[in-house]
Amino acid sequence: MIDQFGRRVEYLRISVTDKCNLRCVYCMPLEGLDWLKRENLLSYEEIASVLRTMAGMGLEKVRITGGEPLVRKDLPRLVEMIAEIPGIIDISLSTNAVLLGDQAQALRDAGISRVNVSLDSLQEERVDAIARRPGSFGRIMEGLDAAEAVGFDPIKINVVLIGGQNDDEIEDFARITRDRPWHIRFIELMPTGSNLDLSANSFVSCQDALVKIRKMGNIEPVDGPAGNGPATYFRFPGAAGTVGVITPMSHNYCDRCNRMRLTADGQLRPCLFGSIQTNLRDPLRAGDDLVPLIEETLRIKPERHYLIQGSDEGSGGLVALSQTGG
Ligand code: SAM
Ligand code: SF4
Repeated sequence: MIDQFGRRVEYLRISVTDKCNLRCVYCMPLEGLDWLKRENLLSYEEIASVLRTMAGMGLEKVRITGGEPLVRKDLPRLVEMIAEIPGIIDISLSTNAVLLGDQAQALRDAGISRVNVSLDSLQEERVDAIARRPGSFGRIMEGLDAAEAVGFDPIKINVVLIGGQNDDEIEDFARITRDRPWHIRFIELMPTGSNLDLSANSFVSCQDALVKIRKMGNIEPVDGPAGNGPATYFRFPGAAGTVGVITPMSHNYCDRCNRMRLTADGQLRPCLFGSIQTNLRDPLRAGDDLVPLIEETLRIKPERHYLIQGSDEGSGGLVALSQTGG
């Protein structure tokens, strides 16, 4: 699948639910959102059907995300179904890890090879404050231990930079990579409808993070772990892991974008932001051919996103990244 700007799209992020067991300050409002109705969600069979069609068009890699994907019942069943689709060679998962301790082995057995875990602080009270769910930290640590124990590789840790809440821990996160084979990725906070104050007033650029990390010692640019993403990676000489930066605001990487997104209610989105989406659910339920719809969505994939610091203009009315899978 090649778009009009010559970008090869072989990667789909699938949101399996818009619900979440956390309320991260940068993502979801404390009171939650108007959740999608159950009958509007794609069933696992419907997701697999869309994927079979897309695999026939060149899709190779999928990432399961949400909301929090592990709150959806029996996720390993979906993973098994995806693993059987000819052409899909890589299945990964993005999770907050709160429920990973219980599910890691089953997910690994079903076919997940690697995970990305959100962890915004190394301090218990801060994690609980950012996630706004007391007790999260301990569960996340159990989830990370389980991820290592069952052999997910690589393990990437996503840290959204928030001024005054975790930017004094940049060095602590970077230090971990000297000994643990973790790939710590600092992410710039993106504005959506529910975080405008925070994204306007607490933005920290990844350049600021790199300045701090470079003061700790020499770091060299490296290719980074296996994956499909937009991160740029560095390594301390001899370190077990890497430090990565993801810079949607300071340096967008849209020219390298290789992905589309499928929302939990079956909308195919060619860009994380903006208002373009194609309803695949209703045509699928009507028995229509999805190929022309997918081709047209690819054709109108925008050249870039138009996010502006401190404004939700350009987000396409997105309230929270949990609605599209981040
Ligand atoms: N619940 C899972 C998790 O937290 O990993 C998967 C969904 S979450 C929406 C996917 C990623 O988006 C997470 O790494 C999260 O930190 C990130 N994210 C959410 N809102 C964001 C925002 N406004 N700016 C930057 N990253 C954001
Ligand atoms: Fe939930 Fe992930 Fe959003 Fe946090 S970032 S509220 S864990 S969907």
